[in-house]
Amino acid sequence: MKITERLKKPGKLFSFEFYPPKTEQDEERLFETVKDLKSLKPDFISITNSSTGATPYRTVDLSGSIKEKLGLEVMAHLTCIGHTRVEIKAIAERLKVLGIENVLALRGDIHNIDGHKAKREYHYASELAADLKAMGGFAIGGAGYPEKHPDAPDFDSDIRALKTKTAAGIDFIITQLFFENRFYFDFMEKALKAGVSAPIIPGLMPLTSYKQLQGFDKFSVFLPQIIKDGVEKYAEDKDSLLKFSVEYASRQAEDLLKNGAPGVHFYTLNRSKATKEILNNLEHK
Ligand code: FAD
Repeated sequence: MKITERLKKPGKLFSFEFYPPKTEQDEERLFETVKDLKSLKPDFISITNSSTGATPYRTVDLSGSIKEKLGLEVMAHLTCIGHTRVEIKAIAERLKVLGIENVLALRGDIHNIDGHKAKREYHYASELAADLKAMGGFAIGGAGYPEKHPDAPDFDSDIRALKTKTAAGIDFIITQLFFENRFYFDFMEKALKAGVSAPIIPGLMPLTSYKQLQGFDKFSVFLPQIIKDGVEKYAEDKDSLLKFSVEYASRQAEDLLKNGAPGVHFYTLNRSKATKEILNNLEHK
């Protein structure tokens, strides 16, 4: 089912994000994780894509095989910065052959390109969204940034870019993760004021290791002191850290759902335990 159709139905939407593993053994483990989370009846799962343009078919093939083998709805992430228009057309056609009807249209991070060359046929996700729309047959998602995209000079221009993106064909938005809900609610208000009417699904990630604390600055994601203290306190105690993070994210999700969010997208980092416990804690399902 297209996510756009699902969003018209009653009930909150839940989705889980995974990344394509590099080894066969890791892929087997991923299938076990997805199978485990299937019992929670997610509305869809999503598979990330590298922005270099080097391995798009890893995402495409994994999306197809999860849909076929596990019978789950899948949204394939598609980045454009490392691709030509001809390449994007071929990838989109392959997705259609595999029955994938949902795509998250992204620019991709330029600094991830490393040794690979940005192909410079695409500059922004809105251009990819327009091409996918013209091809037809996809429900198209896009990324949103409650704390502003790090490259944007100011919030207003980022919101204008979001508006351009929806005008180009983005049907729904999934947000960058955040740890304080005020960012999501302010973002919703700004988007609505700018005329963005697409549903905005908040993205949440429970932190399950001390290592994950690093690098949030790069993404312009604010880390509240309570999170820093909790993760530092339980750095050597995985069970207590999991409990702390699950409690924090459960409270966050409950408040978002109670106050109008259409659902929650979970960044799982290919693990099931934390997401499973959070969903089991929720009353507003
Ligand atoms: P855009 O919407 O193109 O925006 C990029 C920047 O350009 C913003 O600062 C925006 O304000 C600005 N901008 C946009 N349009 C214009 C315009 N017309 N004029 C001037 N400025 C403009 N990355 C991956 O590599 N693989 C993934 O699988 C992946 N999945 C993601 C999933 C989610 C839910 C999210 C939130 C992000 C994901 N990302 C992924 C990260 C994303 O690729 C990066 O954040 C990237 O830097 C921006 O992508 P975008 O699609 O938001 O770009």
